[in-house]
Amino acid sequence: MNNSSDIITLKRINKNYGHVRALKNVCFSVSQGGFLTVLGPNGAGKSTLLKILSHQTPPSSGEAFYSGVPLKKLDDSFRRKFGVISHQPFLYENLTAFENLMFYASLYNVDNKAKKAEEILKRVDLFPRRNDPVRTYSRGMLQRASIARALVHDPEIIFLDEPYTGLDSIASNNLTELLKEQINGSKTIIMVTHDLKIGLELATQVMIIKKGEIVFNELKTEINSVEFEKFYIQTAGAEGMQQ
Ligand code: ADP
Ligand code: MG
Repeated sequence: MNNSSDIITLKRINKNYGHVRALKNVCFSVSQGGFLTVLGPNGAGKSTLLKILSHQTPPSSGEAFYSGVPLKKLDDSFRRKFGVISHQPFLYENLTAFENLMFYASLYNVDNKAKKAEEILKRVDLFPRRNDPVRTYSRGMLQRASIARALVHDPEIIFLDEPYTGLDSIASNNLTELLKEQINGSKTIIMVTHDLKIGLELATQVMIIKKGEIVFNELKTEINSVEFEKFYIQTAGAEGMQQ
């Protein structure tokens, strides 16, 4: 897999933290408009992979490319193209959700900032609480505010690390709908999840990582979901099924 529609390409990526080899010789591509679901047990290297892809940490060796350009050569303006939802909300807790979104919208030179911030707050069901400081939010509200923060500048690529964590069933369904809208808008999405059902439903490409190595990487059109589920349970074990 390596062609002109690829938006992200990783070549022989290794990442070490001291003696821990978090990623070993990772190679793959994702095409523009694709939705890659990354599965794997705890400690497999999934978050490390997302951090390298979203330019938050450099690899120890190997190279990551965005539309054919090495990530390390890109300047900061490039971050505008990325939206990241991770374990850290990246929100200022003494500011309200609205103020946080206005801050990020300014950072990324978004037009009609207030309108855009209000729209996205409505979309994640936080509009009635938009003027409360983020520090007063429940975990689920914080996660929804983080989703709004990551999308306010309409990024080209969205990276999500276990985005369903802390969401109740209404908020989970809402996130799934939001992600479906993003794919229709031709965004490229890379999502780490333990939720096999949602992961498979949304994906155009599915990957399993185990102990820092890719053990499965296929387009969804090539996947038989019953066989895949068996393989996933065998590979990831009970641990991989945890939420
Ligand atoms: P996953 O997201 O699949 O659970 P991670 O990418 O968080 O896995 O971690 C992969 C491995 O790298 C684990 O062994 C973890 O302990 C280690 N690791 C991750 N981040 C760090 C860090 N900042 N310092 C040291 N070790 C780390
Ligand atoms: Mg992780």
